[in-house]
Amino acid sequence: MSGRPPKHSPIERNADLAAYNTYGLPGRAAFLMRVHTVSELLEACAFARDGGLRSAVLGAGSNVVIDESGYDGLLIVNRIYLVERRDENRIEVGAGVDLAELVGFAQREGLSGLERLAGIPGSVGGALFGNAGAFGVQIGELVERVGYVDPNCRERTAALAELAFGYRSSAFKRGELGGVIASALLRLRAASPAQIAAAMEETLAARAGKHPAGASCGSYFKNVEADQLEPEVRARLSAWIIFNRIPAGRLIEEAGGKGMRAGGAMVSAQHCNFLLNEGNATGSEVKQLARQVKKLVRDRFGIELEEEVRYL
Ligand SMILES: Cc1cc2nc3c(=O)[nH]c(=O)nc-3n(C[C@H](O)[C@H](O)[C@H](O)COP(=O)(O)OP(=O)(O)OC[C@H]3O[C@@H](n4cnc5c(N)ncnc54)[C@H](O)[C@@H]3O)c2cc1C
Repeated sequence: MSGRPPKHSPIERNADLAAYNTYGLPGRAAFLMRVHTVSELLEACAFARDGGLRSAVLGAGSNVVIDESGYDGLLIVNRIYLVERRDENRIEVGAGVDLAELVGFAQREGLSGLERLAGIPGSVGGALFGNAGAFGVQIGELVERVGYVDPNCRERTAALAELAFGYRSSAFKRGELGGVIASALLRLRAASPAQIAAAMEETLAARAGKHPAGASCGSYFKNVEADQLEPEVRARLSAWIIFNRIPAGRLIEEAGGKGMRAGGAMVSAQHCNFLLNEGNATGSEVKQLARQVKKLVRDRFGIELEEEVRYL
């Protein structure tokens, strides 16, 4: 390993990743660096590049499955912090900020648009990567531009058109853009803080009790877009279509996946799109369970489920 150690940000070696993912899955990273500023991110990028290491980024680890074989490169943990109102209706936010903190800030500032995202765990960077959303709202709808550091360690910006957000998807997630998202400029609408707070409370109440307790990464598979299905399959399953999608949890439940297990991983009995870590699961077991679930749904409905989560 010949990389130059960065000046200001210590690099942890052989870092334990269990505390860095909401599943609590075991695994180690050869190198781990928490970055709090863009310049630290640039240092981390240069460290990996100069050392010939591969690198990956984590926000809050609420949408990843860590493999117990570990990560042999540099894992960058994004903690870039900034939340500022730029003008009448725009907020600039660091990608390491908790989405919940951003939602609360916008509410206090009387800026509406984010309230339906209340209760989604994770960082702003993770939300942008996967175009996180709930109740018909996705964060990508509010983005004006994103600042990022590309794989060649150059600072760049991408405008909305380049980000090409789709359902739980973005140019970053599809690999059309690479690197680490550092910040975003969001455009919101003026509204009364009381009205926004009421919508947030309504959102949180609607979420309460819907998600099973226990370690998870949220919905494991994407819901299935109805217009991508063969007409015959779509017609047969039409009663399950909601907003032009069939909930993956419904397909798993109807296929008989409820309670299915692989080692310490189990399909939740409450919400079949939640694959839970019962306590001692490994990433391999979670992935094994996901393969079993996909086969079940494929055999029963001829539909190929697609992971929303990412594998590290
Ligand atoms: C109980 C529970 C409920 C959930 N409910 C919802 C929901 O309602 N709606 C929803 O959309 N999601 C939901 N999720 C999933 C998850 O919260 C979101 O996907 C979240 O946006 C992920 O953010 P993160 O920071 O945890 O990302 P991570 O898990 O850390 O990373 C996810 C992916 O994003 C990439 N990434 C992270 N940060 C960056 C960055 N700065 N630059 C480039 N790439 C980056 C990572 O490399 C990884 O591939 C839920 C999860 C849980 C556990």
